[in-house]
Amino acid sequence: MNFTDLNIIQPILKAIDEAGYTSPTEIQSQSIPLVLEGNDLIGCAQTGTGKTASFAIPILQLLHQKPKQGKIIRTLVLTPTRELAVQINDNFTMYGKNLPIKNTVIFGGVSQNAQVNAIRNGVDVLVATPGRLLDLMSQGIIKLNQIEILVLDEADRMLDMGFVNDIKKILKKVPEVRQTLFFSATMPKSIRKFANTILNHPKEINV
Ligand code: AMP
Repeated sequence: MNFTDLNIIQPILKAIDEAGYTSPTEIQSQSIPLVLEGNDLIGCAQTGTGKTASFAIPILQLLHQKPKQGKIIRTLVLTPTRELAVQINDNFTMYGKNLPIKNTVIFGGVSQNAQVNAIRNGVDVLVATPGRLLDLMSQGIIKLNQIEILVLDEADRMLDMGFVNDIKKILKKVPEVRQTLFFSATMPKSIRKFANTILNHPKEINV
């Protein structure tokens, strides 16, 4: 399997090539077509499998192919830690470097000023840890009422870290009609039950 077999658009293929990737990983060859078709997804995958590109690449393509109306956040990626949030945002920057799509990252433990400025300039993709996101939502700085694609990354870790109520509050502000991608390294019953409350006829991937 080759990246060109996955119907990825040229500006993204160019970025993938410049990253030095020769072929998609297992999760990428499974996930990219399903996401491009608009499916909800439940993915059981560890970090290190190429999971981030498996959602970042098709999301960038979907956003590019459906032009937006005004300065709105169209994709939200929720992840448990600052390190993961920064990595995911860097991935969007890398694969999207030849596209007019803007992404930024927010997390707690630092001043909010630079993060708020980035958001006010307009972003298509927001990568966030739950606490700082809720904080900026409560200040009226972030609105999620135009989200088209929602990603929950490392869902098991988010629940272990006690983010369940934060996530529920965030979900209430995201449109019900959306595409949702749910990734977790483990899939015990409790996680699957939680996933079922937020996904709509998901396709499932295990790698
Ligand atoms: P992740 O599982 O998303 O944390 O990715 C793990 C590492 O694999 C990251 O350093 C990526 O840049 C790299 N990577 C992702 N996809 C590929 C690929 N198709 N070929 C080579 N490296 C990749």
